[in-house]
Amino acid sequence: MIQNIRGTKDILPDQIGQWHSLERIFNEVTTLYGYKELRTPIFEKTEVFSRSIGDNTDIVNKEMYTFIDKGGESVTLRPEMTAALVRSVIQNSLTQEVSALRLWYFGPFFRYERPQKGRLRQFHQFGAECIRSPYPESDVEIILLANQLIRKAGISDYQLNINTLGNDSSRTLYKDELTKYLTSNKEQLSEDSKFRLETNPLRVLDSKSENDKLVIESAPSILDFLDDESRNHFDVVKSMLDDAKVPYKIDPKLVRGLDYYCHTVFEFKSGALGAQDAFGGGGRYDGLFSQLGGKLTPAVGFAMGVERLLLIIENSAPEQVIKQSDCDVFIVCMNENLLKDAFKISEMLRSNGYSTFCDLHRRSMKAQMRETNKLNAKHCIIIGEDEIKRNAVTIKNMITSKQVEIKIDLLHTISFS
Ligand code: AMP
Repeated sequence: MIQNIRGTKDILPDQIGQWHSLERIFNEVTTLYGYKELRTPIFEKTEVFSRSIGDNTDIVNKEMYTFIDKGGESVTLRPEMTAALVRSVIQNSLTQEVSALRLWYFGPFFRYERPQKGRLRQFHQFGAECIRSPYPESDVEIILLANQLIRKAGISDYQLNINTLGNDSSRTLYKDELTKYLTSNKEQLSEDSKFRLETNPLRVLDSKSENDKLVIESAPSILDFLDDESRNHFDVVKSMLDDAKVPYKIDPKLVRGLDYYCHTVFEFKSGALGAQDAFGGGGRYDGLFSQLGGKLTPAVGFAMGVERLLLIIENSAPEQVIKQSDCDVFIVCMNENLLKDAFKISEMLRSNGYSTFCDLHRRSMKAQMRETNKLNAKHCIIIGEDEIKRNAVTIKNMITSKQVEIKIDLLHTISFS
């Protein structure tokens, strides 16, 4: 038997209700904040990602699904959205007519990672980006949107961590100091971190190795290297989150994996997830537009892993898991001669908005009644020879077992939900 590819998942029919419910929440919350959806292709020219995410990140180094197509072009299945979205915004001049461009997205992403619980090779992200404002208010708007979405999904067991990476000059000062410190402790670092120290020292702070963590604990903090501009930006974010009564923790070691972040960075974590405890995160990326050939354009955004949101809901808020009722009405036919009437009546009910099933196996009435129960139908309509002659059918309420006969002409007056 041919199996699916490792790290990919089928979303099965009895799971799709939960996905649809989250998608409705994405739509609802983004509408409340005035964000519009952008859909881009799932593959791009490789340089969209290699020029933006950073050559020395795990994503670009190890995780991209990159291949040469039949025309000899290097293309990549998108590992994240921000770079692709910025490419599209520049190409379609979307910033031209608006003071702030507010966009959201939802779809599949691809990373060649070692699969484990909460970590897939094809996964889904929901995210939002606020483009053109350099001010901390837009960072706060993005965090509030993400927070509102998590709450609407019924999740309360989570933590928001925030940090600042400052502006370019603060970050450069900090990077130098951090590099000096890490170099003087190089022997205690893991091989991975030794390599990162050479290529991308901030990333060492992301290390999960226990030995590295001991070294990191005493590392200098970015918060001691902020100039006035950087400190003011961060102070406004914190005080506006306080005003909005959104709890957060400051984590001076939070850097996030990608090269393009500056100023505010943040992450949402949940104890319900296990080892892969981050389920969303983002930050400000003022330099990315110019890196991808556009004008200097400040922007901030976040991405959230949908599979991880679903894991949290399953683990910590099982009452939120949607159980879909399969149908409103099941049509039971006394014999095959009445099938045409059954189809006519079911189309009529569907056009009135009721989900209606007919038996497709020409089974006995008893078997059809069993199916009605199995599908959790709220009502069944029994079609019999005698009733049809009188232009009538019998409606049975499956919860109360009450039966009534009704003229077919009057079916549209009945509520089956
Ligand atoms: P990132 O772009 O790495 O910050 O990821 C944002 C969010 O996407 C993470 O917090 C996860 O919830 C989710 N995510 C990232 N990589 C994976 C993966 N391989 N499998 C499942 N979810 C992922």
